[in-house]
Formats: sequence, C-alpha cells, structure tokens
Amino acid sequence: MDPFEELKDRFLHFKNQVYLENLDHYQNLSDNQTPKFMVIACADSRVCPSSILGFQPGEAFTIRNIANLVPPFQHGASEVSAGLEFAVNSLQVANILVVGHSRCGGIRALMSMKRADKSKSFIKDWVSIGKTARLSTEAVAGNLNFELQCKHCEKMMKTDIPHSNLFKELLGN
Ligand SMILES: [Zn+2]
Repeated sequence: MDPFEELKDRFLHFKNQVYLENLDHYQNLSDNQTPKFMVIACADSRVCPSSILGFQPGEAFTIRNIANLVPPFQHGASEVSAGLEFAVNSLQVANILVVGHSRCGGIRALMSMKRADKSKSFIKDWVSIGKTARLSTEAVAGNLNFELQCKHCEKMMKTDIPHSNLFKELLGN
C-alpha cells in the first residue's frame, strides 16, 4: 500500500473512532492546553514518548531532537530553549522529563567524533552540546570498548545537566 494512503487510512480511523467519539474532550482541548509534563526526547523513530508512557493528547508538551539534548543557556536560541520558555512561562508545566534511550545514534555520533576532524556537519555541531558527557565518559570509562563507552555516555546524559542557568533564567530566580 502507498505509505501516504496508509496514513490517510490511519487518520480517518482516528477521526471516526477516536475524535468523533470523544468530541467534547477534543473540543475542550482545542480551546486550551494544560499539560502536566514537558517531554524532551530523542527523535529516534523507535522511542516514541506517547507510546512508551501512554501520553494522550493534551498531556505532554513534547520536543524531540537527536540525542534528546538540552543546549546550555549560553548556546542561545534553539527549539529546545524556546520550548522550555513556553512550557515553563506560558503553560506552567509542573514536570520536565528528559527521555534518553539505549543504542542512541546521536550518542554514537558524539562518541565517535574525531578531535582532529575539522569537517562541517550539522549533526556534529548539534551533538557536541553533549561534550561534557563525552569527556566524563572518557575519563572514567575510556578503557572500555566503544559500545560500552556509548552505553556509559547515554547514562551520563541523565546526570550531565549544564542548563540549570536556563531554568533559573526562565523561572526568574
Ligand atoms: Zn537517540
């Protein structure tokens, strides 16, 4: 089947079986959104926050990017910083959740970057936001093989949060 025909069928199924049967709920949502969560997740097609965590429309304001990175405040404007500003200041979300995952291609790109390589790449520029996690990984797990270093770095991303200044700025304290 043509992939776009399949999407059309899926949309019609949603419209007829979900939307029209819950019309009041969706009409309320069209007027206002009050999500409890902001979610920052990897763009990886296998890691869909709504599927994994069961979010329904209106529950999670979501930004997805390669390797679920949050640039530091000093990085300037990005879709993540704009999303954080909107989620915190306008939507007043109570919880911000960063969803990492194993076997992340973005983390592999970060960990395989050669220091001497001066070639330009959007991916390289983007994932270098996580360089502190890479350096920490190399310091404590540099003796492990590449796969294990990537695994270590994926876990480091949870604890390497260089954007506390951003939250202070957004929250005004
Ligand atoms: Zn990923």
